Amino acid sequence: MPRFPGVDYIQFDSLLSEQELLVRQTARQFVDERVVPIIREAYNNGKFPSGLIREMGQLGFFGANLEGYGCAGLNNVEYGLIMQELERGDSGLRSFVSVQGALVMYPIHAYGSEEQKQRWLPKLQSGEAIGCFGLTEPDFGSNPSAMRTTAEKRGAAWVLNGEKTWITNGSVAGVAVVWARTSEGIRGFLVEKGTPGYSTSDIHGKLSMRASVTSSLHFSECAVPESHQLPCAKGLKAALGCLTQARFGIGWGVLGAAMDCYETARSYTLARKQFDDKPLAGHQLVQEKLAWMITEITKGQLLALQVAKLKDAGKMDAAHVSMLKRNNVAIALECARLSRDLLGANGIMDEYPIMRHMCNLETVKTYEGTDHIHTLVIGERVTGLSAYR
Ligand SMILES: Cc1cc2nc3c(=O)[nH]c(=O)nc-3n(C[C@H](O)[C@H](O)[C@H](O)COP(=O)(O)OP(=O)(O)OC[C@H]3O[C@@H](n4cnc5c(N)ncnc54)[C@H](O)[C@@H]3O)c2cc1C
Repeated sequence: MPRFPGVDYIQFDSLLSEQELLVRQTARQFVDERVVPIIREAYNNGKFPSGLIREMGQLGFFGANLEGYGCAGLNNVEYGLIMQELERGDSGLRSFVSVQGALVMYPIHAYGSEEQKQRWLPKLQSGEAIGCFGLTEPDFGSNPSAMRTTAEKRGAAWVLNGEKTWITNGSVAGVAVVWARTSEGIRGFLVEKGTPGYSTSDIHGKLSMRASVTSSLHFSECAVPESHQLPCAKGLKAALGCLTQARFGIGWGVLGAAMDCYETARSYTLARKQFDDKPLAGHQLVQEKLAWMITEITKGQLLALQVAKLKDAGKMDAAHVSMLKRNNVAIALECARLSRDLLGANGIMDEYPIMRHMCNLETVKTYEGTDHIHTLVIGERVTGLSAYR
């Protein structure tokens, strides 16, 4: 099995510590040895490779940048490098880890009671338990503030009614972090699998993120104890706080998909000869595409590193992450398209990872805030004017 050589044009690695390089090497080796050999079949069969979950838990990938409760307590560069390597394997795998860590463990860690933390975090960290995050509804994606799912206080219970959709890991999750409208505003709840009135159904027919489970969650008079409300999650901003965590990981992750596409095209065009026994890579038009890709990947790496440094220093805000997510997803998608072109007809085959990455990246462009929405966040930051409505 070929080992990924990495993509480093400007001695980016010299900006990383020994520990950061070691963490990346661990994730890289895991992807080379455990993911690359099986991901094509998993994707084609529309199956998440669930056999990898406990191993990822042992390697510390879940909630890796959180402290305590068995979490690895890594810095945000190390966390980002793990996301990068996982998404080099497949966006579905990185999505699983993003949801588990940033959208389920993070809200329990940040907004949960001590009892909730003790009950869930060690199990989620090890992969013994799987979680999902229910915010999007059939009628509201980009504008979750209009959500219709409700939670009504009746005696000692909260009763949920409504529907969430496009939920990663929905049907396989033992615990769902669910956002619902109450008389006091939007609040977060932990809903356990098997709770009466809670059911899930999977979404089939996806031509993107095929190696990832995506479901709808249904709530019909679903009563959860008061102790299942996240006590410190007040208002939509609590849910958005989780999204900022996940989007940060995406900004790093998609660089891995871009690197895989770039490296596949670089090695392919060096090996393939067409006119006068000259490698394709020796032609100017081919080099122009490779030059564009390596330049944009390099700029994306620097952006990701700076945002991670800000995050470690407690100075990162959501508008920084919008630039990271929007830019790096866009350049990754363009790298996939250019690489597909450079492989000619072979570029459409599943023997190469390019079309898989390209299809996955269409989802990544949409979820966790669409390209448009992040454009509007940046626009608001630089003008002071909100253009969402
Ligand atoms: C595979 C997959 C997994 C997902 N996993 C999860 C999950 O785990 N949990 C979860 O809660 N959600 C999840 N989502 C949902 C995802 O977050 C939403 O799809 C996303 O927020 C966009 O919402 P929408 O699909 O309703 O699109 P819409 O909001 O209907 O947007 C459609 C188009 O209109 C544009 N648009 C909308 N509003 C504006 C505006 N004001 N100005 C300009 N353009 C605008 C959008 O940019 C987009 O181009 C997932 C989605 C997918 C595809």
